[in-house]
Amino acid sequence: MVSERQLIDYIKGAAGKVPERVDGIGDDCAVFGCREGCKQLVSVDTLVEGVHFDLTWHGPRELGHKAAAVNISDIAAMGGKPCFALLSMALPARLDFAWLTAFTEGFTAELKEYGVVLVGGDTVASPEGLLLSVTIIGEAEEGRILYRSGAGVDDVIMVSGSLGDAALGLKLCREGRQASWPQLAAAHLTPRPEVALGRHLAAAGSGVTAMLDMSDGLATDLAHMCAASGLGARINADWLPISVSARQAALDLEIDVLDSALGGGEDYRLLFTCPAAVEEDLRREVKAVLKRQIFRIGKMIPGCGVLLCGRDGERDVSFQGYEHLTR
Ligand SMILES: [Mg+2]
Repeated sequence: MVSERQLIDYIKGAAGKVPERVDGIGDDCAVFGCREGCKQLVSVDTLVEGVHFDLTWHGPRELGHKAAAVNISDIAAMGGKPCFALLSMALPARLDFAWLTAFTEGFTAELKEYGVVLVGGDTVASPEGLLLSVTIIGEAEEGRILYRSGAGVDDVIMVSGSLGDAALGLKLCREGRQASWPQLAAAHLTPRPEVALGRHLAAAGSGVTAMLDMSDGLATDLAHMCAASGLGARINADWLPISVSARQAALDLEIDVLDSALGGGEDYRLLFTCPAAVEEDLRREVKAVLKRQIFRIGKMIPGCGVLLCGRDGERDVSFQGYEHLTR
């Protein structure tokens, strides 16, 4: 087993150069200057072996990518620019240096892709499972931060991409069938944070009123937005963007694809609202600038909770996504 000092030295090397506004790594705290006119965004997320990932199918490199991506996504969710990360690991003795090297490569590669610099962390021993906790620090210009509480009555509800892919990917991994639909497995193993789109939606004049990233499934994440905005939502089952692969895999696995789209977590798509009057402009602009499609799934209504309209009527699906604390 490699010593803690050797591991930290290795990670430090892999993290690369720190920008000028950071006073190096190695002191008790990372010290960095703040930009004028900006607010700091800070978020922490923890991944636990056996709960969030399983090392039988989650390779070290992919896990490194994911640990960084899900945290970067929280900054993207508010329209921020991710800047710095801190990585804390509780490591079981069974993970050797080769595993740690591959993990670190994946983690730092993902950070670099989004211009994020690793500025600190902690390593401790774990008697059993692997635990990864990442703190991410970002920034956004004052007045250009999107909160989940900003949705208005009659605002349209939009999502940035297909729903349910990651949940189906996880099911395929569990059955050892990743190769059948590799893009679904990839949605679970290496999700992509939507930083550029988040920045675009939060830019001045976009008209977007509220935003978050979907980690626990649409039914739960939209219910959070409703609660924070003091409103309800009505979504249309036929409008949910569901990929062809998701439909095929769900059929094959004998799962209702709608359940995966509503309740399967980890899609890390952006969920946002805007007045109907700006929807078309927004759609056109996102397509022109980012070559991306956005999808209208419903609208905000007075009241509370999330109503799903389907062929067999309406039902309340509030908070029917992934539940972390069932006891
Ligand atoms: Mg989030």
